Amino acid sequence: MYYEAEPYKIKMVEPIKQIPREERIKKIIEAGYNPFALRSEDVYIDLITDSGTGAMSDRQWAGLMLGDEAYAGSRNYYHLKEVVNDLIGYEYVIPTHQGRGAEQVLFPILIEKPGQYVLGNMHFDTTKAHIELSKGRALNFVIEEAYDTDLEHPFKGNFDLDKLEKFINKHDRDEIAFILITITCNSAGGQPVSMENIKGVSAIGKKYNIPVFFDAARFAENAYFIKQREQGYADKSIEAIIKEMFSYGIGLTMSAKKDGLVNIGGMLAIKDNEELYDQCRSMVVPMEGFPTYGGLAGRDMEALSLGLKEVVSEDYLSHRIGQVAYLGKLLDDAGVPIQKPVGGHAVFVDAKKFLPHIPQTQFPAQALAVELYIEAGVRGVEIGSLLLGRDPETGEELISPVEFLRLTIPRRVYTDNHMKVIANALINIYQRREELKGLRFTYEPKVLRHFLARLEPVE
Ligand SMILES: *Cc1c(COP(=O)(O)O)cnc(C)c1O
Repeated sequence: MYYEAEPYKIKMVEPIKQIPREERIKKIIEAGYNPFALRSEDVYIDLITDSGTGAMSDRQWAGLMLGDEAYAGSRNYYHLKEVVNDLIGYEYVIPTHQGRGAEQVLFPILIEKPGQYVLGNMHFDTTKAHIELSKGRALNFVIEEAYDTDLEHPFKGNFDLDKLEKFINKHDRDEIAFILITITCNSAGGQPVSMENIKGVSAIGKKYNIPVFFDAARFAENAYFIKQREQGYADKSIEAIIKEMFSYGIGLTMSAKKDGLVNIGGMLAIKDNEELYDQCRSMVVPMEGFPTYGGLAGRDMEALSLGLKEVVSEDYLSHRIGQVAYLGKLLDDAGVPIQKPVGGHAVFVDAKKFLPHIPQTQFPAQALAVELYIEAGVRGVEIGSLLLGRDPETGEELISPVEFLRLTIPRRVYTDNHMKVIANALINIYQRREELKGLRFTYEPKVLRHFLARLEPVE
């Protein structure tokens, strides 16, 4: 366990308040039992995402004042490029407004014909959506262990390399567009991918001439786990581990709203393939903006450059990962079923085990999210069958292998006291869990339905 306090002092505060229980009940009914539809003012502790919700440092805020808002060739672009060249080792850098901005530029270029597969450990939801919008098919190859929440495994984000290679062997080369390694593996519980596994995927990519890319939103957290858990890396610097990881791919998309430590931003980076870079550069103009700003203000690029330097600090990472682990330990000690070991950015409560009386077709994790809001004004998010959606080809309701309530911890925002409030609220619910009821749709959107769905309790 960790004994350190936050490695920062608080220089500015943002007041939050807990509205009364009767109000919370009213608000969640108005929201159609969907926490996404709540106003953040009505939320006490907001764990809906760690994306863009972090606190910037005093240096980053100072950096905003150094914005060069030139349309072309901003100084801040060159600073960002330098930091990425140094840290990641990729030559070509295109800023984008956020991660999905990079996806919408890159994927249509890589997916050359309809029906091509994109092979991942476990694709993130917007990533899957952009693959499908480009007429590709997103497939997951994460190891079986990832689905067993009780099983301790140091790298539950790993690819099942046998399964991956068998699939490739059964298909023609032109049926496969590319391989995408998501670090850390968000949808599997913020679980890391080992260096050995990254190397293995890269070797398979080379053997079959399939390009390997990274979805790199939480690259620093992944590097920290490698340092902690993988043999041979304890004495390597975080920077060296990051360099090595990315050396096994040919490019990346990144949501900078996570380990970039900024509220908005993303990027596309390519190691050395100039032709691919040129293709991306011409696509980014109509989609995001001129390639030296790509949808970002100069000041945002400056804050991002500084964030990328801060996120590799071991003091920062040990507290960050430690705080998430602390929340996990409070819950685990009380018997609340969670994904173990705890991942990098969130604690994933296993709603299938928490609420065995609610069938998956009635979204147990969503029911738990609703109850947690009513209990303490804490907003978590469902990662399960509601998120997974229907089969894009048949329209059939898919049953997710996992039903998680994700408690996502924003970076440098909440203290350990907030963690205690969250844990106590969930523990109270756990003690009266039989009372909870499932949910059904009153409105079901066609794409990314979890964001706008409206539901009601099943009586
Ligand atoms: C957040 C995220 C994305 C999408 O990035 P946005 O900045 O939200 O557009 C893609 N992949 C992963 C793994 C993510 O966590």
